[in-house]
Amino acid sequence: MKEGKKENPRREFIRRGLLAGLGSLAAGSILSSCSDDKSGKKVKVLTPDGTLVEVDASEIQPSEEFKIQAREGIPGRKFVMVIDLAKCYNARKCIEACQEGHHLPKDHEYMKVYLMQDSDKSAPYWFPKPCYQCDNPLCVSVCPVGATYKRTDGIVLVDHDRCIGCKFCMTGCPYSARNFSWKHHEEYDDTIVYNPESSVPGQEGTVSKCIFCADRLRENKLPYCLLACPMGVIYFGDIDEDAVTNGSETVSFSELIRDRHGYRHLESLGTRPSVYYLPPVNRQFPVDRGYESLDDDIKERYRNTEYVKKRG
Ligand code: SF4
Repeated sequence: MKEGKKENPRREFIRRGLLAGLGSLAAGSILSSCSDDKSGKKVKVLTPDGTLVEVDASEIQPSEEFKIQAREGIPGRKFVMVIDLAKCYNARKCIEACQEGHHLPKDHEYMKVYLMQDSDKSAPYWFPKPCYQCDNPLCVSVCPVGATYKRTDGIVLVDHDRCIGCKFCMTGCPYSARNFSWKHHEEYDDTIVYNPESSVPGQEGTVSKCIFCADRLRENKLPYCLLACPMGVIYFGDIDEDAVTNGSETVSFSELIRDRHGYRHLESLGTRPSVYYLPPVNRQFPVDRGYESLDDDIKERYRNTEYVKKRG
């Protein structure tokens, strides 16, 4: 924590035992303003003194307009990403651009690149993995305070102002897509007004992840990772418009998936990811190209793969 930074009441709340009295807390000190929502929907919120209470959604009136926007998503959109595994050679440009754009330190990656090998007899390949923005997001269903949520445009966001750092979402995500900010990094620019759509600046003691660059999408800009990839590995678009682009070419999403036998990672889990993969057949680069130039600390991550063991 930076010198002079005030203790966050949420951390204080955790220390006092997150779930111990969840069912018995009184709702007396909750925000008092009202909206027109009479749906009877219940939500859990924190009071100013750090108490978690359940209230009618109609009792909450978010104070900032952009936070309401960030909850609802971009109207009429349903975003989808396609990653072409045949083209990836682990240039890591997607990671670097994402980290720069989101003011992330080097050890905090929203996009991760794994070295995969499907069997002893098949060749290894590079496997970029962002958050899949699942249509059935297990991370959302386990969040006790509604800090992470699914929008109408398919994006799953995290509101750091509401996150209490319990890490339930990290445990719930079957794809290890989430990161915890253990400390306040110099890369976090405190002069920027926080918006869940950009996830900038990061906040100590909260969980963050890839958000498909929701703030850029609102300005009709493509995600950082896509624009930085020198190989056009990442396609992005709107599934309802049936079109995706990698910045160089725009193609039919359904034809791309059909013709290249696209699939979703661990689809059997029922998570319904918004990220599809094109299989690594007829690869254009040997795996070595993306391994030899890596820094030693990155190489270390792949130490237990068959590929590295065979290299000796
Ligand atoms: Fe949530 Fe994980 Fe799915 Fe992302 S990949 S939406 S973090 S369950």
